[in-house]
Amino acid sequence: MSGTECPECGAGISQREGVDVGEIIACPDCGTKLEVKSLQPFAIDKAPSVEEDWGE
Ligand SMILES: [Zn+2]
Repeated sequence: MSGTECPECGAGISQREGVDVGEIIACPDCGTKLEVKSLQPFAIDKAPSVEEDWGE
């Protein structure tokens, strides 16, 4: 089982079965939304925020 680290808090993120590239998962530690970038090797990145602050 491969895993990686949360780019936000450094918590270990283990690859889950059925997870596919482009899926959004949440860090179990800090709750940051993470997008799966690659499965082999397992890689994630912070997902673009869907709740942008549009200001005025
Ligand atoms: Zn985290």
